[in-house]
Amino acid sequence: MDATLRTSIIDLLLPWAESIPDSIAVRTPPGPDRVSLTQRRFLGEIGAARDRCRAAGLAPGDRTVLIAPSCPEFLIEFLGAHAAGLAVVAVNPLSTARELGYILEDSEALRLVAHPAMAEAGQIAADESGIGFETLSLVGDEGPSIALGDDGVADFDRVDFEWDALAALLYTSGTTGKPKGAMLSLGNFIATTDIVKEMTQTTPEDRNATGLPLFHVFGLADMALPALSAGAPLTLFPRWDPQAFVDTLAEDEVSIISGVPTMWMSVLTNATAVETPRLRLISSGGAAIAGEVIRKVESRFSAPVAEGYGLTETAGLGTFNPLFGTRKIGSVGLPTPGFEVKVIDVDGATLSAGEVGEVVLRGPAVMLGYWKKPEATAEVLDDEGWFRTGDLGKLDDDGYLFIVDRIKDLIIHGGYNVYPREVEEVLYEIPGVAQASVVGTPDEKYGQQVTAVIARTPGSDLDAAEVERVARENLAAYKIPRIIEFLDELPKGPSGKILKREIVRMYTQGT
Ligand code: AMP
Repeated sequence: MDATLRTSIIDLLLPWAESIPDSIAVRTPPGPDRVSLTQRRFLGEIGAARDRCRAAGLAPGDRTVLIAPSCPEFLIEFLGAHAAGLAVVAVNPLSTARELGYILEDSEALRLVAHPAMAEAGQIAADESGIGFETLSLVGDEGPSIALGDDGVADFDRVDFEWDALAALLYTSGTTGKPKGAMLSLGNFIATTDIVKEMTQTTPEDRNATGLPLFHVFGLADMALPALSAGAPLTLFPRWDPQAFVDTLAEDEVSIISGVPTMWMSVLTNATAVETPRLRLISSGGAAIAGEVIRKVESRFSAPVAEGYGLTETAGLGTFNPLFGTRKIGSVGLPTPGFEVKVIDVDGATLSAGEVGEVVLRGPAVMLGYWKKPEATAEVLDDEGWFRTGDLGKLDDDGYLFIVDRIKDLIIHGGYNVYPREVEEVLYEIPGVAQASVVGTPDEKYGQQVTAVIARTPGSDLDAAEVERVARENLAAYKIPRIIEFLDELPKGPSGKILKREIVRMYTQGT
């Protein structure tokens, strides 16, 4: 890519403000408090957010922190800061004061913008770090709209970035250690937006709804920006409510939805079925989805589930089960356009089809590196641009990738490798299992014990004996969970991923 090319994410949006100025760009779910912004209003609000950044004295290259749930104002602030040439540090709203403090310090940000619901904690954190604080400006019914010239062309003042300039810092624990800021460039965002648009063939006729959080790449880079840049109205959900989600699909005649597997499971157990005749794509990613869950979701919605695989460090891209081609259930699909995938052994040698090793990715959405952490960057990124994912996987003869597990989630029971996912797939086939997670807990005799934690579907009286019976029927003896626990809800992170580390902690106490 020509590194001197100067552009901006705003260039992806302006054509819609010009050609369909009165169509909806972004909105909240239906209801009396619904916020709906037209294309020209959305750009107008982005311009006002840009001006607030400048008024706060920030200059291109500076970092601003944004902490907010998924709402139109999140995107306005993100894009306004971008228009001012800033790099945005998007932070999970459930972060503790200590976690937020760490990010403020590590990112050397100059300003923190927090949603009113988090204003108090935000103000305290900003004061402690000695940086500027602002409450996120909420939009009302009236507000600035972009002006179009006589020729219908918008005059929008923004800073253009170089392709490799830092556009966002997203903190992730990565495969190990303390949270690190993954540096995503403008080029990463533009490439991701173009690739997703191409893969999903999104047009202004589509209607997109996502339950994903925007501080996470999957919500921001893979879903929100591609929808906006395709001119497709986007509905965001500030908090996850499975019934409100499906009601929106019916009322707004939504055609593309996206989420993590736990969202689909909660839709299956907690929401009534609705008619969704226009739904054409259910995009799932962020964590493994069991084949059984795919089948149930497809039968509930009569639309295909396309599973994607990626990481914060790759702007959420990597592989995607093709929508317009052969889809293999259980696989995370083929490399996304512009990407290459390899499976390597511990010495870095490339493995053949069918052999399990570490998945490595190369492509235009791979991050610049970890912020101020050259050693951590060198551990995962080599000179040729290959990124080590920390995931175990294998390719089949057709080049489809199968994720076996995360390297760090692998259970070693009496010297045998147990891949939790394989056990989870079996558990999901048991009637009465709504959610299941398998982890290794410390064990004196075997090193690690296979431990299954299950949330039952409402009304089910499933017990441990039945779970063990099915596991015995389907799995080798060393893979059978010896500890089987039932919980009302499995612990989940803010992006909806089941928190395995938390489960391990819960069942490790006292050992
Ligand atoms: P994050 O950086 O939070 O997006 O987490 C990335 C990790 O999520 C990857 O390294 C994988 O372990 C996991 N992941 C993402 N998508 C999938 C998928 N479709 N199947 C299995 N694991 C996934």
